[in-house]
Amino acid sequence: MARVLLRFSESIVEEPIIAQIILELKIPINIITAHVDSKGGEVLAEVPNEALDKVIKAFRQRGAVVSLPKLIEVDSEKCISCGACVTLCPVESIKIDEDKSVVFDKEKCIGSICSACVDACPTRAIKSPKQNNAEAAANCKL
Ligand code: SF4
Ligand code: SF4
Repeated sequence: MARVLLRFSESIVEEPIIAQIILELKIPINIITAHVDSKGGEVLAEVPNEALDKVIKAFRQRGAVVSLPKLIEVDSEKCISCGACVTLCPVESIKIDEDKSVVFDKEKCIGSICSACVDACPTRAIKSPKQNNAEAAANCKL
């Protein structure tokens, strides 16, 4: 499965775009997180790898902004095993191993809509998913 970050502006947020695309393309879309109100919405979703291009195109055609979140990277050289990132992670994506190294579970991380660990790290050992996401969007040729 591939993760896509979908942003819906105020003008389209009330349209059932995700449901329409599921029905139209006949593919499953798994919603991981969703932050939606009357001013707009941001949804992190998983789609099958083989359908990724079609899904991105379909969302963009309906006015959504689509980017491909790349997740955080931890520089173990800079990490002092303080544990600040572990306690702040809302999805328990990071833990400190028995050898005091930081272990990051990419399957759980919700990426660019979070970044709590990036801001918490006193040694800047964690690379921002916001930076990575911008790079990914810039590199996406769809
Ligand atoms: S970006 Fe958020 S979800 Fe991902 S590891 Fe950091 S704190 Fe956890
Ligand atoms: S907050 Fe930074 S220094 Fe502390 S354990 Fe996490 S990655 Fe390591």
